[in-house]
Amino acid sequence: MSVVKHWIGGRLLEDPPERTGPVFDPARGHQTGEVAMAGPTEVELAVDAAARAFGEWRDTSVVRRQRILFAFRQLVNDHRHDLAKLITAEHGKTMDDALGEVQRGLEVIEYVCGIPQLLKGEISEQVSTGVDTYSFRQPLGVVAGITPFNFPVMVPMWMYPVAIACGNTFILKPSEKDPSPSMLAAELFSEAGLPDGVLNVLHGDKVAVDGLLEHPEVAAVSFVGSTPIARYIYETAARNGKRVQALGGAKNHMVVLPDADMDLAADAAVSAGYGSAGERCMAISVVVAVGDAADRLIPRVTDRIDRLRVGPGANDQSEMGPLVTAEHLGRVAGYVEQGLSEGADLVADGRGLAVEGYEDGFFLGPCLFDQVNPAMSIYQDEIFGPVLSVVRADSYTEAIDLINANPYGNGTAVFTNDGGAARKFQREIAVGMVGINLPIPVPLSFYSFGGWKESLFGGHAIYGPEGVNFYTRQKVVISRWPDPIHRGVDLGFPKSD
Ligand code: NAD
Repeated sequence: MSVVKHWIGGRLLEDPPERTGPVFDPARGHQTGEVAMAGPTEVELAVDAAARAFGEWRDTSVVRRQRILFAFRQLVNDHRHDLAKLITAEHGKTMDDALGEVQRGLEVIEYVCGIPQLLKGEISEQVSTGVDTYSFRQPLGVVAGITPFNFPVMVPMWMYPVAIACGNTFILKPSEKDPSPSMLAAELFSEAGLPDGVLNVLHGDKVAVDGLLEHPEVAAVSFVGSTPIARYIYETAARNGKRVQALGGAKNHMVVLPDADMDLAADAAVSAGYGSAGERCMAISVVVAVGDAADRLIPRVTDRIDRLRVGPGANDQSEMGPLVTAEHLGRVAGYVEQGLSEGADLVADGRGLAVEGYEDGFFLGPCLFDQVNPAMSIYQDEIFGPVLSVVRADSYTEAIDLINANPYGNGTAVFTNDGGAARKFQREIAVGMVGINLPIPVPLSFYSFGGWKESLFGGHAIYGPEGVNFYTRQKVVISRWPDPIHRGVDLGFPKSD
């Protein structure tokens, strides 16, 4: 069986790994390969390669870095179908969805192609007599990124193009569930002219992650994944003196007011609830239907569910693919059982779905619960599967209070035709990313992505301007050139004059 190897110092690490993990084709439900799992030796090799590459990369002029980014942008665009195929093969999502993910990653590369502009500093002339002050930003050194399975191209691209454009060197620890897309991306960056060691891909699990979190040469850590691990990464990296941003899980609510266009809202709920089989951190998992909205919305949603085509991601007829692993399928199906036992009304039941020719695949059809209340586990937990819950709220205030009381705060949306109601929502809602009449408000690359509360630990959102700030530190220079007036010793605190 083929083994996905580490990419360290611009080459594959050929030494046979001490440990490997399985890689599956989720549509067929069988193992297709193995991935090397790093131990302390491989962590050391990766950090060493990145640390050795840092000095030269930091000193590489910003326009040379920019040219490499332009070349990388072109190569990723040329190979977008190859990247999408690798995503579909190991993650399971449809090709169309995978291409969308590659596109959103590409947009981050396009943003940092403007790195000379993004790194411009500030200058104030004559802040004191004969004294100028200016500030600029410098890279941190070796930085690490730890990423989830659900966007194996896009989420790493939220990190390494930005970090590298800023002059850092990078160690990517992708999800062990779908490691191959990161390998192609690293090869393409190398082909674009990136010097060896500037981007390294280290595969593995907690052992690799802990090695990076504890390594004194690693200056900063970016993490995207589930909330318990995000909290652990945040605390451990901070304890070890590192800069850290850790993006966690989500429970995204979509409020539907009675005046909303119900067909628009039903399209949005189905697209955002079941797209990528619900395995998106910005998936809608709860519809909060206000007043009589539920009675008009639910038949429209079930009508659309009945027409959804579930099948292998590589088949261009499929609109929804399988879940990522058998274990995850079992966990999600377990929540459907729990919802029933807690008294929710299962309006659409996707269990027992058989996809012809793919009987062993990790498929679960779309499930819809009505009459869900906030005490139920299907409301409280992030299910991360094709299970959508409808909570009925008597008033708009009750809907807003419900969302604001939720521990997560990644994304949310409101569907209404009332501008005043939408404005109230955008002002009062305690969530980082807000959609008005659109369900998945993922900011474009020139804004930054980040939730609130337990969806993000740390002071910086990811990519966009906040990404540039995260991967650089400010230096301020206060300068005075030969001054004919020698003022002598003055032990007082410097004052402007
Ligand atoms: P996960 O937290 O299980 O894994 C994420 C990464 O952490 C992987 O690289 C994994 O190898 C590593 N990891 C897992 N367990 C670890 C441990 N005990 N110690 C150290 N490292 C560990 O997440 P996942 O299942 O791969 O991805 C799905 C989760 O990611 C969902 O909760 C989803 O909401 C979240 N997510 C969030 C965002 C966001 O932007 N907020 C984006 C995508 C995914």
